[in-house]
Order: sequence, then C-alpha cells, then structure tokens
Amino acid sequence: METILLEDCEADLIKAADIIRGGGIVGIPTETVYGLGADASNPEAVKSIFNAKNRPADNPLIVHLADFSDAEKYTANIPELAKIIADRFCPGPLTIVLPKNDRIPSITSGGLKTVGIRIPSHKVMHRIIELSGCPIAAPSANTSGLPSPTSAAHVMDDMNGKINAVVDGGQSEFGVESTVIAIENNTSVRILRPGCITKEMLLELCDNVIIDPAILHDLEEGQTAASPGMKYKHYSPSADVVMVEGNIKDFTEYVAKFNSMDVYSLIYDEDGKYFPYRYMTYGSTSSEQAHWLFQRLRELDELGVKKVFVRAPSVDGVGLAVYNRLIRAAGFEVIKL
Ligand code: AMP
Ligand code: MG
Repeated sequence: METILLEDCEADLIKAADIIRGGGIVGIPTETVYGLGADASNPEAVKSIFNAKNRPADNPLIVHLADFSDAEKYTANIPELAKIIADRFCPGPLTIVLPKNDRIPSITSGGLKTVGIRIPSHKVMHRIIELSGCPIAAPSANTSGLPSPTSAAHVMDDMNGKINAVVDGGQSEFGVESTVIAIENNTSVRILRPGCITKEMLLELCDNVIIDPAILHDLEEGQTAASPGMKYKHYSPSADVVMVEGNIKDFTEYVAKFNSMDVYSLIYDEDGKYFPYRYMTYGSTSSEQAHWLFQRLRELDELGVKKVFVRAPSVDGVGLAVYNRLIRAAGFEVIKL
C-alpha cells in the first residue's frame, strides 16, 4: 500500500476524513503524540490498526470524539465525577474510562466492557473527527513496543506502506500519551497511565486520587492489569536502556565504567556542561523532558547506540509520566546510586 503524506490544510483534512469514513487508517497529529486513526465503530478498520502496529489484541484502543457530550452515544453510564472532570480538562490530554455500549465493538475495547474516551484539543485531529463524523480509535502510531511517534517522520519510519496516509502537523506539543483515568464509586479517581494532566490537577476536583501500582512497578506473575497496556514492555528503542537514579556527580562516576563508542547517556540540559562522555540531553523541566523523551530515544537508535544510561527524572507532576515511560523502556532495569 502507498502511504500518502498530507498537509495541515482543509483540502487534505477532507481527504484524511474520507479515508477514515471509508474504513482506512491515517496517522494523525494530536497534542500528545501521533495517533493511528480509524473508524472505532468499524471492526474491520480497527483490525487493520492492530495489524499495522502488531498490537496485542487485548490492549484496548482509546476512542476520540469531538466533544464530551458525544460520549453519551458510546457509553452506558457516565458518573457525575467524570462529567465534572471532563468539564475542566476536555478537550485535552486526558482519557476517561467509562462503561461502553454496543456501538463500540469488542475488538476496539480489547474485549473489555469499558472504553477510554478522549477529546483531543489538537485542531487537526479535532477537524478530522468533525469531517469524518466517526468516533476515531487512535492508539499511538508506532509499531508496538517502540518509542511513540512525536512527528510525521516517526510515523513514516514505522508505518510507511502499512497505512493509507499521514497528516503532517509538526512536532507534538506534550510528547507523551494522555493521562488515562478510571472513576471509582463516583468519588475517587484511579490514574491508570500518567500523563500531562497530573495527580495534583485532578486533586483540585476530587478528594481521592490513586496512582495505580502498575505505573511504577512491574506486574507480578498472574496479576491482572487495570490498564492492559501496562503489562507490555513498551516505548523501547533498539538500544538497551538503563535508568540511573542519583545526582549528576554519582551518575558520571557510574557511567565512567562503561565508556565506549556505542554507549550514550541521556541527561538533563544543565548536566551537559561538564559531562565528559558521549551524551544527549532531554530537557530541564519535567514538561520539557516529556516533550523530548521519545524523539531522543529514536535519535539514539539512528546513531546506532547500543546502550543508553538515562538520568532518571523526578516523579513529581508531569515527571511521573516521564518516569513511567522510561521504566518500561528500560524493562524495569533501574540502578539506584
Ligand atoms: P495507546 O493506545 O498506545 O495510547 O495506549 C492506550 C492505553 O490506554 C493502554 O495502556 C490501554 O491499556 C489503556 N486503555 C485504553 N482503554 C482502556 C480501558 N477501557 N480500560 C483500561 N485501560 C484502557
Ligand atoms: Mg502506545
């Protein structure tokens, strides 16, 4: 299949929407990362997403809608707390898991009775949903297991020849996927995947926000994941990633033992000044680190790097999302200095 490259202009967005209405799949920019969009109500179209990504069938897809009021068409019951949270944070980088109705096929929800609903704020994604008139299922537009794509070039690298089109909307703003939450007893929020809508932000609207244990820890044998995506190794470049927790002095002493041509460190911007070994930086604040993380992991692969030592991010605020992606990229290999 030829994958056509489309631009962020009305004529091309109409083409993208037509492809989706016709059962095809399109790489679409969003404010988080690029998504692989298809009609969420069309089981054949959804199947082609799973095939293109090589995604396990039990890993559910998030359904993207133009407005939260449309969620009633695809869900069975929306708790009051979900409406309050949506009112504040939608459109934006937040997915709310709700009980689904029959208009969402089982293949879309990975066999679950719930569906994750997101209202993207990116004008390209938003316009394509409006023009297509479809609920759009859109996982990240990477091959399963690889770092998520934050540019149209990344989508082409993974998906050229496997999908109908990619819309180029520039670099993704946030750089990590949406925060995924579930509402419990209409009183608490459980964060299933951390993102740029943080625990602190959710606490402004509800008294109890639980961080699901699978966010920071590997699942034990036989344990089931509240968010199926959490059980897979994820976000990994070809290079072996090791996360190292400690200050820059201890970090530098540690990586000295491994100094060679194909070993790199991924450190904070301010660490670079006196760092004596091969390195890249991934920002200074947590938001910058979220923005750059996946881009850097892909760049390190392009350099043919074999091993990457990453200076662990803070786990506060958006930092938790960065830490969560890195710990999976590292297959839970963390050195605590
Ligand atoms: P991605 O499609 O790559 O953004 O990944 C979607 C993430 O959302 C995965 O980790 C899924 O496990 C999670 N997710 C999607 N739908 C649900 C759901 N109904 N219940 C729990 N987690 C979900
Ligand atoms: Mg993904």
